[in-house]
Amino acid sequence: MAYNIEQTDAQLLGTTAAIRYRLTFPQAAQHLVNVEMEVDTEAGELTLALPNWIPGSYKVRDFISNQGDLQVAAPDGTLLTPEWSSKNRFTVQVPTAGTVRASWNWYGNERSVRLSHINRFHAFINPANVMMYVQGRTQEVHHVEIHNPWSQISTPLSPVRTGVWGALNYDILVDSPMELGDHFVASFQLHGATHEVAVIGAGDFDHEWIVDQCKIIVDTAVKLWGRLPYDRYVFINQLLSGLYGGLEHSRCSVNIFDSEIFNDSDRAVKFLGLLCHEYFHLWNVKRIRPIEFGPFDYDREIYSSMLWLAEGCTSYYDDLMTYRCGFYTRGEYLRTLSSDHLATLMAIPGRKAMSIKDSSFLAWVKLYVPTPDQNNRQVSYYLKGGVIFLLLDLLIISESNGAATMDDGLRALMARYEANPAVGLTEDEFIQIVSQATGVEIGTHLRGWLASTDELPLAEYLGRFGLEWKRSIATSEPQNFGESLPYQRPFPATWGGLQVEEIKTGLKVSRVIRDSPAERAGLGADDEVLALNGVRVGSSKQWDAVYRGVLLSGKPMEIIAATEGRVYQATMQPEERVVWELTRKPEPTEQEQRLMDIWLAR
Ligand SMILES: [Zn+2]
Repeated sequence: MAYNIEQTDAQLLGTTAAIRYRLTFPQAAQHLVNVEMEVDTEAGELTLALPNWIPGSYKVRDFISNQGDLQVAAPDGTLLTPEWSSKNRFTVQVPTAGTVRASWNWYGNERSVRLSHINRFHAFINPANVMMYVQGRTQEVHHVEIHNPWSQISTPLSPVRTGVWGALNYDILVDSPMELGDHFVASFQLHGATHEVAVIGAGDFDHEWIVDQCKIIVDTAVKLWGRLPYDRYVFINQLLSGLYGGLEHSRCSVNIFDSEIFNDSDRAVKFLGLLCHEYFHLWNVKRIRPIEFGPFDYDREIYSSMLWLAEGCTSYYDDLMTYRCGFYTRGEYLRTLSSDHLATLMAIPGRKAMSIKDSSFLAWVKLYVPTPDQNNRQVSYYLKGGVIFLLLDLLIISESNGAATMDDGLRALMARYEANPAVGLTEDEFIQIVSQATGVEIGTHLRGWLASTDELPLAEYLGRFGLEWKRSIATSEPQNFGESLPYQRPFPATWGGLQVEEIKTGLKVSRVIRDSPAERAGLGADDEVLALNGVRVGSSKQWDAVYRGVLLSGKPMEIIAATEGRVYQATMQPEERVVWELTRKPEPTEQEQRLMDIWLAR
């Protein structure tokens, strides 16, 4: 049967299912969810398996590791012996037709958008972690009976009858997380669909403010896409101290953000940017998607060279939608583009070492496996992909003389999905559809940007919009105080290219940037830093004070360090610090101003 991720609540009401789960929480305090699974089956072999990864997070995570207390019983109640054929898959021999009952516990004690987390106050369940599937029967309706010891449930699963929820197939089940607890829930109707907003986390949050911003996000998206492709959508927002993450689903998003967001407006806007990002994914990734993304093999890596479409396009549009929602002024949007996207890319040496197509293909072993050396030898397809989509939008607008934008391309891609939802896109098809919809041939430029490690032509394209993208050498102007009296110089004009972090015994080098003074001095990650210019540095505070002073002087610094306990001495010569900045031309032409207004229309 064809791959399908679309479901409306009306489709599930009153259905029956031959594959049923029952979730209970007798040991929630010990972080356990108990799963009982019933499968109506013929006599013979029955194979159950648990996914090794979850779509949207491209790393094999072996969820089976947290499963225990497995039991499988034949229709007459006698216990069957599971024969494991791989780490996540077993088979039982069923003697007679009837209902096979399997049960297990799953231990969830890690907070993440891709895992399940259970404690005495709540349960957040990702079915991909917890619910095994029946080999060969993933296309059937699946029911989930939830014995919820708390008062609320927020999930895109569709109600079947009281206490029972359902999915048309296993792919939709995996795409449907559940938040159970006593959290805040509100709902609103907009553009013909129901929206639910769940807010989880202990804190004095202004819940209504979050609901109001969700309304703006939905309304702004409809201006771009024309209509909503769902009947119901659930925003699950987990506000937890020090945590961050998001995961997209077809009718839901899970957004984890620091609980202190309301303390300042800058961070509140970043939270809204995360909501915009994950919400945008319901179109791009869940529906408009690389050809490899569905149907999924949950056993192993799904390689795609097109995560630049999945995450790059979404990274460009998340800030653009944040701006279109009115959460940024035009000036704030341009500053964010400059600092968080363009300047960040220019600070990553790995952009010259790996193409974005390779970065995408190797995500399973690169982006999701961070090392201190990561940015030296690779570039994120989120970051560079976002910048490529900026260039693509600027290319389309300027070459069409303002007649088209990337929005037209997106709408055409969505129409292509609706015409053939079972199959994703190839790179050639993406280029052909966007070129046709916008009247601008994008293939020649885009293929080069995706496959090469050459610098992107930022200055050229931004220049067409009355903007200057300029490289300069940092200067160190003194700050003033009182009656314009000179005070200290705030930003050193030089840099060293290393980062340090505190450890029990003092400080260690956490990162050495490629082609930097620190690399030339012979420093390496994890080396312990003992002294700078004869001064003992045992804390970040001491380091900051001495290091900053040395950078301000621009003179060589003597470093005493140790690697695996052996002490060595190194001399580091600070070098000029390069600064990249996006500014408006003092006198843009009328045409440049006109194109800027089309690009940033809202
Ligand atoms: Zn994303």
